[in-house]
Amino acid sequence: MAWITPFFVRFYAFIRALFLSTKPLKNAENYSCIIVGAGAAGLNTAVQLQKTGFKNFTILEKQKTVGGTWAANSYPGLACDVYSHYYSFSYFLKHDWPRMASSGRELHLYFKKLAEHFGLNDKIKFNTEVKSAIWNEESKVWEVTTSAGELLRANFLVGATGFYLYRQLSKVMISFSSLIIEVFDLENKANETNNSLE
Ligand SMILES: Cc1cc2nc3c(=O)[nH]c(=O)nc-3n(C[C@H](O)[C@H](O)[C@H](O)COP(=O)(O)OP(=O)(O)OC[C@H]3O[C@@H](n4cnc5c(N)ncnc54)[C@H](O)[C@@H]3O)c2cc1C
Repeated sequence: MAWITPFFVRFYAFIRALFLSTKPLKNAENYSCIIVGAGAAGLNTAVQLQKTGFKNFTILEKQKTVGGTWAANSYPGLACDVYSHYYSFSYFLKHDWPRMASSGRELHLYFKKLAEHFGLNDKIKFNTEVKSAIWNEESKVWEVTTSAGELLRANFLVGATGFYLYRQLSKVMISFSSLIIEVFDLENKANETNNSLE
């Protein structure tokens, strides 16, 4: 019965490809696009753009690698909470996930392979954080400033910055027998110290 999930995923991908294939974009070479973030959303946007013949795009990523959430987090036991098969794109299926709910490491590897397969690494500026993005009404372009002080311009801007990337340490109460251990929010403490210095 283990074959059933991959079978349905492939069947779904086939039907989808049949009816929802991406049409080539006219005059694509006249336009440019900046994608912010090289997680699942940013990489998928890039692949979809490539499919339409849109080649003039850059991905800006503040981390040193692709994968977003799955690159930023590495704590023990990190894993997705859905079937791994659902976590792969229909155009880049992986049939040999080692576990039903794969580890963060495996997911990170999947996105690295995806970027490699579609030649996206050359399109990504790693270690580059977007500091601001302003629409210039006169010239009709986005003006994007990076952490390196660079100013980039593009007709389109895609925000693929995610929302779960960074840990929020909070006050946790762990009960073990009658012992209660309180773990304090170190980040808040640090913030309080910083604020009090101001
Ligand atoms: C522990 C954990 C488990 C999860 N499990 C599941 C699951 O089982 N199923 C599920 O569907 N989802 C799960 N999620 C949600 C997961 O975040 C999404 O599935 C998905 O990975 C989000 O992809 P994304 O590309 O939208 O965002 P992200 O993966 O967060 O990627 C955003 C990227 O944008 C970059 N970025 C952000 N701001 C800037 C900036 N200003 N300049 C440049 N780059 C920037 C970041 O560095 C990052 O690489 C989980 C999340 C966590 C944290």
